[in-house]
Formats: sequence, C-alpha cells, structure tokens
Amino acid sequence: CGIVGYTGHLQAAPILLDGLSKLEYRGYDSAGLAVRNGEKKTEIVKAKGRLKSLAEKTDNGHALVGTCGIGHTRWATHGEPSETNAHPHMSDDGNVVGVHNGIIENYQELKEKLVRKGYSFYSSTDTEVAFKLIDYYYKKYEHTPVDAINHALVRIRGSYALAMMFQDYPGEIYVARKDSPMILGVTDGDCFVASDVPAILKYTRTVYYIGNLEMARMADGAITFYNLDGDEIEKQPTQIEWDA
Ligand code: GLU
Repeated sequence: CGIVGYTGHLQAAPILLDGLSKLEYRGYDSAGLAVRNGEKKTEIVKAKGRLKSLAEKTDNGHALVGTCGIGHTRWATHGEPSETNAHPHMSDDGNVVGVHNGIIENYQELKEKLVRKGYSFYSSTDTEVAFKLIDYYYKKYEHTPVDAINHALVRIRGSYALAMMFQDYPGEIYVARKDSPMILGVTDGDCFVASDVPAILKYTRTVYYIGNLEMARMADGAITFYNLDGDEIEKQPTQIEWDA
C-alpha cells in the first residue's frame, strides 16, 4: 500500500502514477487518483487490480488535468478489494477528498456517531469514516483544515498516513501521520508527500520526516508543520545522498 501527493507547477497525475509505481513493492490490490485543476472540483479515478489498469484508464495520467493531486495503492484491511472501496474517499459534497494507509481501529463507533449526524456511507472501509469525521469538524469549527484534522486525530484510534485536499483550499494538500510511514519533499515551487523516499527521489532529495501525531500543509513550494495543538513546529530538511 502507498500514498503519493504532489502540488506545484507540473501536471500531477503522471507524477502520482510514477510515484505509486515506485511503491509497488509494498503490495496492493487496487489504486486511485484525485486531481484538481485550480478552483474546479476534484476529479477521481479508481481501478481494481494492477496500477497498469489505472494508467490505462487515465491515458497514463494525461486524461486528468491539474497541478495538485493525491494517489493511493490500497492493501484492503476493511472491505473487499473493489473499485468502490478503493481510495480516494470523499465527503458527500466533495469538501474533503483523501487517501489513507493504515487502520482506523474505532471506525465502527465513529461511523455510528456520523450516521446520527446525518452522514451516509458508500464503502465498507474504515477510511471513509476518517474523512467524513474531518469534514464534520471542518464544518463545525470555522472551516479551518488544521483545526478540523486535529479534532479528528484526537478521536481516531489506530494507525494512519493521511493525505487530503479541501474544496475551499485549491492547490493545498494536508497530511497527518501516526504509526504509518510518510515523508515529505520540496524543490523549487513543488511539494511532495509519499510513503517512502524512492517515490519522489526523481524530483527532489530534500526531504522532511514527520513525527507521530503531527500534520503538515503543502502549498506554493513550502511545507508548514503543526502539532496536535495546531501550533507551527520548525523542522530541518534532510538531504538524501543515496540512489534508489
Ligand atoms: N484500512 C484501509 C482500507 O482498507 C487502508 C488500507 C491501506 O493501507 O491501503 O481501505
């Protein structure tokens, strides 16, 4: 399973597909992409099986226009391998679109809470619960992504690497991590996130490691890190010397 995200000045989809192919060694049963073109609504394409099917479905990514996007290879833990259960998952109105590696242990209890609040569920994944919970807090707390994610992280038990986009924040990707691998990278005007270094090594060697229960915002070639209180934290990048 793997995650790749990109926001910058290049077309996102070919970079996402290339990055996901470098994470194939981690194993997967389905894959998906979400790409956003400026202010327009996010487009999502998913495919069961090999990454090749997703590449064919999107004309090697060229069918998806936009310079901001997230990609995922899924290793199913909750819900059979299928196109419906493949990521990205989103809130009903498309406000939050995200990908997840890991397991949300208390997803059943969170799902019941969200159903009581009027949310519907379409997949049998634990992941859909995470993004709908973030959507719930986003609408409750001033439409601020960092606050919404932090509120959700306090409620979620389990492991996760999360990457997501918010409809109100074009060109921005938000990530969070606990007990699942994730690294971030930057180079002139471009930002990357991935489960592992080889996915982004072709583009940059300047990477940041993100700690447990930390989150980050990627936009305009810069990455800002936050702790669970929503306070900014300083991080120094690491230069990767080795070759993939
Ligand atoms: N638990 C999630 C699912 O089954 C994510 C699996 C993964 O890490 O790919 O959809």
